[in-house]
Amino acid sequence: MLLELRPEVDYLEKQNLLDRLKRMGFQVVESDTNILAVIGGIDSLVVQDDFAALPQVLKVHPLTANFKLASRQTKPSDTIIEVKGVKIGGDELFIIAGPCSIESREQLEACAKVAKEHGAQALRGGAYKPRTSPYEFQGMGVDGLKLIAEIGAKYGLITVSEVMDASQIEVAAQYLDVIQVGARNMQNYALLNELGKVKTPVLLKRGFASTYHELLMAAEYIMLSGNPHVILCERGIRTIETFTRNTLDLNAIPSLQQLTHLPVIADPSHGTGVRSLVLPMARASVAAGAHGILVEMHPHPDQSISDAKQTISFDTFAELCTQVKRIKSVM
Ligand code: PEP
Ligand code: MN
Repeated sequence: MLLELRPEVDYLEKQNLLDRLKRMGFQVVESDTNILAVIGGIDSLVVQDDFAALPQVLKVHPLTANFKLASRQTKPSDTIIEVKGVKIGGDELFIIAGPCSIESREQLEACAKVAKEHGAQALRGGAYKPRTSPYEFQGMGVDGLKLIAEIGAKYGLITVSEVMDASQIEVAAQYLDVIQVGARNMQNYALLNELGKVKTPVLLKRGFASTYHELLMAAEYIMLSGNPHVILCERGIRTIETFTRNTLDLNAIPSLQQLTHLPVIADPSHGTGVRSLVLPMARASVAAGAHGILVEMHPHPDQSISDAKQTISFDTFAELCTQVKRIKSVM
């Protein structure tokens, strides 16, 4: 539930209340207003009455969303996640670019150089790859993480890569600035719980058959286990359409932003699966209000070991950056 505090409550009185609630076993979130979100325990009328009787409390409001920590009801203002001086979720457009898979130093460094040149703030590249076929390239593993850490540092870029299993988190947290959870793992609750135990921000991709509610409940797992730094990513869902690999659900961007205070970015690469559609859907994502975009690029797109069909060239990436920034500037 949400406790609206009396306007005259001072710092000490508020701290006393926080201590008392925590001793009672509740998790308390202080939002940016005079509202405290109290989570856990029994949301019964009896408890509500008890809360209403507290001297610091003006009014008790029910917290109706199932996702409590992620809900905009709990925290009305946008959450801004700061990574290496970059503010994610604010007014600045956050651009993540890089290859689908890290393949070599040369490939990743070429991407980093171009990403930096055109104003991206983050370098991506998969080291642990969730491939449909077990016979296909599974990623460079920890050698890939070491490469992205080194190249990211050299170019002053935030590093983003995926973990597929809880056993990879420790090493990933050592080398990465942001840990990605892929669409296939969005509902891997054991993995989400473990990611709650580290401080590294998590880029949580929507499952390709998951609702907004399911995505937000997945974010809730990470937050409830202790990591509030979650960035949501719309990356397309499976529909009846076969021309595209997935259908980028643009509705998700403003819908999620109404439901949650967390940053919401879009991935037009996986969202379309078609190279020629990445640029227009990146534009559309930004126009729909995305806090950022994630795109796959490669020095030789056709030679990409994974996701070649949706991987764009450096020239297209340069054009994309110019166009999305222009759109952002009029919003
Ligand atoms: C990726 O980012 O390369 C990836 C595998 O994404 P998704 O989990 O959205 O398919
Ligand atoms: Mn990919």
